[in-house]
Order: sequence, then structure tokens, then C-alpha cells
Amino acid sequence: MKVAVFGLGYVGSVTAACLAAAGHEVWGVDVDTAKVQPIAEGHSPVVEPGLDELVADGATSGRLRATTDPRLALEGADVSLICVGTPSTPAGSTDLTYIKRAVRDIAEAAQVVVRPESGFHSIVVRSTVPPGTVDEVVAQVLDEVPPPEGLTFGTAMCPEFLREGSGLADFYEPPFVVVGTGNPKVGTALTDLFAFLGKEVQLVDVRTAEALKYACNAFHATKVSFANEMGRIFRHFAVDSREVMKIFVQDTSLNISPYYLKPGFAFGGSCLPKDLRSVLHLARMNDTELPLLSGALATNERSVRDVVDRVIAGPGREIALLGLSFKHATDDLRESPNVELAERLIGKGYNLRIYDAIVNPTRLVGANLRHVQSKLPHLQRVLTDDPNAALKGADVAIVSATDRGAINALLETPPPRTIDLSGRLGADVEALAGYEGVGW
Ligand code: NAD
Repeated sequence: MKVAVFGLGYVGSVTAACLAAAGHEVWGVDVDTAKVQPIAEGHSPVVEPGLDELVADGATSGRLRATTDPRLALEGADVSLICVGTPSTPAGSTDLTYIKRAVRDIAEAAQVVVRPESGFHSIVVRSTVPPGTVDEVVAQVLDEVPPPEGLTFGTAMCPEFLREGSGLADFYEPPFVVVGTGNPKVGTALTDLFAFLGKEVQLVDVRTAEALKYACNAFHATKVSFANEMGRIFRHFAVDSREVMKIFVQDTSLNISPYYLKPGFAFGGSCLPKDLRSVLHLARMNDTELPLLSGALATNERSVRDVVDRVIAGPGREIALLGLSFKHATDDLRESPNVELAERLIGKGYNLRIYDAIVNPTRLVGANLRHVQSKLPHLQRVLTDDPNAALKGADVAIVSATDRGAINALLETPPPRTIDLSGRLGADVEALAGYEGVGW
């Protein structure tokens, strides 16, 4: 099929490359040339394991191309997948500006290009959007820019469930493939598009598909907060809460996966905090109280303060922070609790040196570089790509979302105190005299 993917960030670039690898003819579209140019040159615009190779294959086969011009992408296209950002507004609601712009770009381009042979084009939202967005917001733009004669639009919501750092594996093995639409033609088009996944496509109404993604992310966030609260209370009793949760998940009456249930640090990144805020905003707008979900967010904010308090409680002002992005194997700094932790410690006068395997001064590019330059200039000064340099002279090491190289460096020259938020040190903790685990 001929597919146009709008937005070439973490979701769009994986989607475009995987669809091209599956044999579809894909054009990626982005307003940002820093996303388009790498793909056009056969590289990934974001750090995601395996994606560089897949983009290179797509560029070589000619099945994956990228442009800033929606008209090139819409030429004869059967489906548009919208993967643009849906960030939080300052009030916590979902900013749908980019969604509206992308729909308008699609509708306007469709006026001037060759139509698909079927005379039908599916406009599918893959971004996370509140219930009602496709029926109301997308529909309104399409009312303003209706399709030209001989072409019909159909709309749908098809949420994406990939996680950064394991984006390709998650794309190929989604928990479910759900298509929300009232239009059977769109249902058929998406069933064909995703046939290569070998997974049943569940056709539901559009609002169910929109709400589903929020339910998933609200539950993941609640699991993290639950596990962190277990860690917070039981550390006063010298309990290893990771061990507790490892056994807890074996209870078959819970039938619950161990994912997101490891006491450690706050959740972060571009999805869980913003989607939880979005649900809470929808609740406020509808005079509905959601104390459980409000608590999950409050607990998360408390997790950062807890670590600051633990640092303050002990001696030493030289701190090595190992890991800056919100999780290992991604360069995404959005809402990373490690960034917030660093800012708070710097604000309290601690001397920080930060090591991150991917987010480091020599490899920062595009939006992440701009993010650090504009919002975190002090962090740029203290970032290093050498774990030994970060650890040199440190009184306290904070082990967060980091790699094995940093853990090896830590074991070679352990500082007087190590605060482990990662739980990844295993038996190595024996070698660290001043070790404080995640939950004890
Ligand atoms: P991102 O910020 O990495 O990428 C969004 C891209 O859209 C940017 O490159 C931006 O330039 C581009 N864009 C904006 N307006 C455009 C337009 N009119 N035409 C073309 N491109 C345009 O965002 P992301 O992390 O990929 O997330 C995208 C959506 O998917 C969000 O709704 C997010 O909640 C959801 N989601 C994200 C993840 C994840 O792990 N990042 C997982 C599942 C779902």
C-alpha cells in the first residue's frame, strides 16, 4: 500500500521504517528538516536501537522516502498515519495544534495530487488524543477542507503502544492492534496495512480506541507509583522491595505482569506524565474526582524529592549522576526525572557531573541539543561522555538510567556512597561499601 506518515519523531520514524520493511511504499513527512534530512540520507533521526539499519534498508530499497512537502507524500496514497506530538498545555490539557495542522496539510495536499485508484483515503490518528478528537476536531478540519470530487476521506484512531528504547520490538509485537472507526473501508485498509504483524485487528468504535491508550498509560503510571510507595515505606524496615515485588507478581490471582512494578525512580518521558495529566484535566473539566490517579502523579513528584532528601541526609557535595534520559537506550530528555533531579541538586549548590551513554555533549543532535541549549545550559556544562570523568572525586554516585560501562567504572573506583535507583547492580553491590539500594 502507499502510506504517508506525518511526524517523524520516535513514533513516526519507527512506524515509517517498519512499514517500508514490510513492503509498503512509505513517504515520511515532517515540518522539521532535522527529521527529514537524516531519513532521506538513510539514517534514523532519533536514537532507537536497530532503527538506523532499518532506515538505511528502506532508503536503499526506495520504499522509504522523506519530505517536508505533504503533496509528494499524498500522491496516490491510500493511508495517512498521523504521528505528530500531542504535548501538554500548561493547564495539563492536550495540545491538539499539531494534529489539526497535520489534518489540514493532508486535506489541502489531497486537493492537488493524483488520487488513489480506489478514490478513498484513510486519515488515521496514531498519536495519543482524548476521546472525541477524531469525531470532533479532525472532522471539523475536514469539514473546512472537504475532499475534491472523486475522493472520499475516512477517519480512524489506531493507537501506538511502542516504548522508546525497544521501539522496533514493540512495533512488531504490540499488545494488541486496535482500530477505532465507524467506517468499514478504513477498517479494511488498516487490516491490510497491518496484516504482516500476524495479529488480529480489533475493530472498535473510535472513542474506545482513543480512551484505550490513556487507560494503558494511566495503569502503567499507577503501577510505578505503587511499586515506589512499597519501596518508600519498607526501606524503613531494611526490606528489599524489589525482592518483594518479584514474588508479588507470581500471585496468579493478580495475573499481572512484572513490567512497571520494580521499585526505583520516578516515571518520566514523553508519555506517562503527560497522558496522566491529560486524564486528570479531562476529569477536572467534567467535575469528576480521580483520587487514585491524582495520587499516582503526586507520588511520582515525591520520588524526585525523596532522592534529593537522601543526598542531603549524608555527607559530600560532589555528585556523579549516571544516566540523564528517562530510561536507558534513548536520547529522549522530555520530562526525564533525572533532569529534574540534576536541576534540584545544582540548585541546592551541589557540584554535579553527569554521564549518559547517549545523551552526551558529542552526540546531542536536533531537538535534544536545542532542548539542552535553551532549557538546561548548566547541564550541558556538566555533561560528560566518560563515566570515569563523572566519577572522579565524587562523594556520592547516583545510579539511574545508565549502561553497563558506567556500572563497571563505578565498581573500579567506588565513591564513599552509592545511591542505586536502577536496581541493576545485582551481586556487584558487595563491592560497594556505602551502597544504598532502591528499596532499602
Ligand atoms: P515527537 O515529538 O518525537 O515527534 C513528533 C514529530 O511531529 C516532530 O518531529 C514534529 O516536527 C512533527 N510534526 C509536527 N507537526 C507536523 C506536521 N503538521 N506535519 C508533519 N510533522 C509534524 O513525538 P513522539 O514521541 O513520536 O510522539 C508522537 C505521538 O505518539 C504523541 O501523541 C505521543 O503521545 C504518542 N506516543 C508516543 C510514544 C513514545 O514512546 N514516544 C509511544 C506511543 C505513543
